Amino acid sequence: MEEVVIIGSGPAGLTAAIYAGRSQLSPLLITGNALGGQAATTSEVENYPGFPDGIGGMELTQLMQQQAERFGTRVQMDEVVEANLRQHPFVIKTYGATYETKSLIIATGVSPRLLGVPGEDLFKGRGVSFCATCDGFFYKDKVVAVVGGGDAAVEEAIYLTRFASKVYVIHRRNRLRAQKVVQQRAFENDKIELVWDSVVAEVLGQQTVTGVRIKNVKNGEESTLAVDGMFTYVGTVPNTRLFEGQLELDERGYITTDHRMHTSVPGVFAAGDVQERALRQVATAVGSGAIAAMEAEKFIAELEGQAYPDRQW
Ligand code: NAP
Repeated sequence: MEEVVIIGSGPAGLTAAIYAGRSQLSPLLITGNALGGQAATTSEVENYPGFPDGIGGMELTQLMQQQAERFGTRVQMDEVVEANLRQHPFVIKTYGATYETKSLIIATGVSPRLLGVPGEDLFKGRGVSFCATCDGFFYKDKVVAVVGGGDAAVEEAIYLTRFASKVYVIHRRNRLRAQKVVQQRAFENDKIELVWDSVVAEVLGQQTVTGVRIKNVKNGEESTLAVDGMFTYVGTVPNTRLFEGQLELDERGYITTDHRMHTSVPGVFAAGDVQERALRQVATAVGSGAIAAMEAEKFIAELEGQAYPDRQW
């Protein structure tokens, strides 16, 4: 019987593990298929306090993992395939094992949203990518397109200019959504060309991507951009399929919690990007992970009839 199982290895899950570990709950953290979550695929995190020169997303999450393990977290490289929250203890099945747990912290994060256009699926891994830090190196002196106008699209477009000779940023409006400081950097970068008011209609290619067919949403005109790769950053969707029908979700599928990270099922907590929230950042994810772990500790103590000292937060 586990005291607490944490699902997800991004900043929220790893912080929950650090706190649960320090509370001597010996947390079991199930990583999911990508260690470090979305943050680990971020080339550079510039706004997480304590790193005035920025830090690579992968490096940051690896440091968090080391810290969690130092306090007794068992990190299990596996993926949850089924979660039964209708009974207590909760039952969590992975590809490799079945666990019973007194409390559960869900930090399953989000996945990249797809464009859903012809060619996107066909050329996945052959020119269509969702991770500049993973694949950018393959585009040395090549031309790439980045789709989207948010922080992720613009930051990763800037990162890709380290390798690519040219980076088109294709955005469906004529104003970027990204933070101003990031926008400014993109406008000043000679290798970046903004393609405004446009959407990708098709990914073109033979063995690999050779171009994208784009459509101007204002005048309906279509044209082709010759590119060797396309990186898509058009937002994210929550990883909550396992919990549908068991937990309260909002209309977009994010887990609804109160301010102490309690979900609609007592003993189940949610933290980080998977949770309905106003701001999705590493800084906000770690705070929610810490609270979720302390609430899990409190839940277990109350379950077992132990007095739980009220903490001064
Ligand atoms: P986002 O902020 O939701 O931006 C998504 C972008 O994709 C928007 O520009 C949107 O256009 C566009 N888009 C959405 N659907 C589209 C479609 N079907 N076709 C074409 N374009 C489409 O997503 P994100 O950039 O992935 O960021 C997610 C969260 O992580 C945000 O809260 C962001 O602030 C945060 N984040 C922060 C940092 C950082 O602070 N360093 C870095 C990365 C991400 P519209 O603008 O027209 O809606």
